[in-house]
Amino acid sequence: MRVTALSLDVGMAKWIRPLSGARQWHVPASDRDFFVANALCGEAFTTALETTSDDEKSARDGHCPTCEQILASKSVAGSPGR
Ligand SMILES: [Zn+2]
Repeated sequence: MRVTALSLDVGMAKWIRPLSGARQWHVPASDRDFFVANALCGEAFTTALETTSDDEKSARDGHCPTCEQILASKSVAGSPGR
């Protein structure tokens, strides 16, 4: 488990969740927001975050269904064109 403060680089993490009791893991929406981390589903985290890149670990606690849906549609629709 890796616990960091708000200054974490969410670009390093595949999954994030607030430390304050939530079990569900969200997908970070941006790797540029260092101080305000947002999830793809629109959830904005203003408290310290727990991060992981471990799909199996995050799957055990559950993934935010909205985040997963957006992630899936992004990887399908987001055609780079090259
Ligand atoms: Zn979410």
